Amino acid sequence: MSAVESMRAGRWHGAGDVRIERVGRPKPVGGQILVAVERVGLCGTDLEEFARGPVDIPPHLRTGVTLGHEVTGRVVECPAGEVAVGTRVIPDVVRACGHCEWCRRHEPGLCDDLVVLGLQADGGLAEFMLADATTCIPVSESVPLDSAVFAEPLSVAVRAIRKCGDLSGADVAVIGLGTIGNLAVQVAALHGVRTLIGIDPVATRRAQAGASIALHPGEVSGYLAGARRPDVVIECAGTSASVVDALGLATRGGTVVVIGTGAARMTLPMRAMVLTEKRLLGSAAHVWDVDVQAAVALLERSLIDPLPLVDRVIELEAVVDDGFAPMERDSTMGKVLIDPQT
Ligand SMILES: [Zn+2]
Ligand SMILES: [Zn+2]
Repeated sequence: MSAVESMRAGRWHGAGDVRIERVGRPKPVGGQILVAVERVGLCGTDLEEFARGPVDIPPHLRTGVTLGHEVTGRVVECPAGEVAVGTRVIPDVVRACGHCEWCRRHEPGLCDDLVVLGLQADGGLAEFMLADATTCIPVSESVPLDSAVFAEPLSVAVRAIRKCGDLSGADVAVIGLGTIGNLAVQVAALHGVRTLIGIDPVATRRAQAGASIALHPGEVSGYLAGARRPDVVIECAGTSASVVDALGLATRGGTVVVIGTGAARMTLPMRAMVLTEKRLLGSAAHVWDVDVQAAVALLERSLIDPLPLVDRVIELEAVVDDGFAPMERDSTMGKVLIDPQT
């Protein structure tokens, strides 16, 4: 393999085993683009695979898969010419079959044969990645790379907020103010909410999220003694306890949207939920031309600022030592970004 045909990639081989390997540089065919990856973000999902995987990695890839689903980069090859070479894009990581019932309803994230690049096929934690030409979203050069790479996690927040319906005049709480929770607060603030409550045990996260009311979980019951319960609660912490808290916190007839995927099974206060007619919704990932497009527009208009969430930008070789290892030690650490070209 010559240097021209090969590239470096961060590949998952098992729990605690992510290696930087030299692999073949993929070749795009019609309908695909080859992207020179400029930034990749690591998130809780990647950390789960590193620490305890395989979680979402299927059996046939347990001998190795390139991680990375929060990606921005530049198109370097596009055989069918759908996207101009040199365009900076967010390559979509949701690959759907295009013809099942869910794809026909334009819900590719629910596809019968859903493949998420970076988990169920090779992703962007590499110098180059393959993606679909039609589902990549161009990003203005005016958006800093370290912001553009947040398009995918921001699209997750955008989708969850969209599921809440009309938020104008509503009281909204966000539980868990990590990356997604912080972005959910920022997106909710653009929707004319009346009160925006951010709940997290970590003081720096509460301060950074900038909700109008910031509460430690231990302060919630005291707050509720003198205030109205929120109409909408967005659960981003991903623990069983936080889902139960979210259901308890919402007002009668209110809505709880769960983004945090915590325990696979949990016990919920169903009787109380039914009698108070609360709605419990799941929200997963994004639809490229709805949620990712909206996220990119928010970044291009500088309506969302993800830069304070960045803890560090590291080179590919450092992904374990300066990425996964410190993330595993400190669950409150900010976003780790990787520049695979270094
Ligand atoms: Zn993610
Ligand atoms: Zn499908």
